[in-house]
Amino acid sequence: MTTIAPAQLADMIGAIARRLRSERDALNRLDAALGDGDHGTSLSAALAAAVEDIAELKQPSAGDIWLTTAKAVMNRMGGASGAIFGTFFFKGARRLRGKERVSKNDMEAVLQAGLQGVKARGNAEIGDKTMVDALAPAVKAFCGADELASAWSGAAKAAREGAESTRELVARRGRAKYLGERAIGHVDPGATSIALIFEAIDDWRTEMG
Ligand code: ADP
Ligand code: MG
Repeated sequence: MTTIAPAQLADMIGAIARRLRSERDALNRLDAALGDGDHGTSLSAALAAAVEDIAELKQPSAGDIWLTTAKAVMNRMGGASGAIFGTFFFKGARRLRGKERVSKNDMEAVLQAGLQGVKARGNAEIGDKTMVDALAPAVKAFCGADELASAWSGAAKAAREGAESTRELVARRGRAKYLGERAIGHVDPGATSIALIFEAIDDWRTEMG
């Protein structure tokens, strides 16, 4: 697979939604330790809404699919992280405007714009114990690979390592900030969902052959 067609992109969003749904309770438990325990429920509901909205589109382009995902996340997720995840998809959607299919170069632009948007919106950098700790290394690995297949698998591994790295950190953003040292020993839920998203994409891509 050298480019991603609209139907494939829709299928990929579906694979992400299924993974987040099956990990929903585990994500809630991570958020219960560091925040208010809603992260799995709100993120999986947002992606389920995106899947429903995408199914309503008539002959969508890749850009239409990404924008529909952005709107669903922004409108239905709520909370601080709804705006942050929504920003991720919105910034990427601008890079796909009018695009029928997605090449590796296009996806690089989508991911880089999404990462910049998340960092700006949340005022977060690597080491703050947020989703940026998984997203930044994932984007870097993706861009450093020379084709789509190895880009997804490299990004998935980097995201998981990044998520694990948050375990030892004190949080400087989000609700976990108020826990101070007590945040140490718990992985960040948002970083974990980023790892799950890239792992879901990598598994989907492997199954596609
Ligand atoms: P809420 O904190 O509103 O309940 P969620 O529980 O859905 O939102 O998501 C929490 C996740 O959001 C955190 O684990 C973290 O990864 C991410 N997050 C929180 N604040 C920020 C921020 N300022 N910048 C980047 N990510 C953040
Ligand atoms: Mg929460």
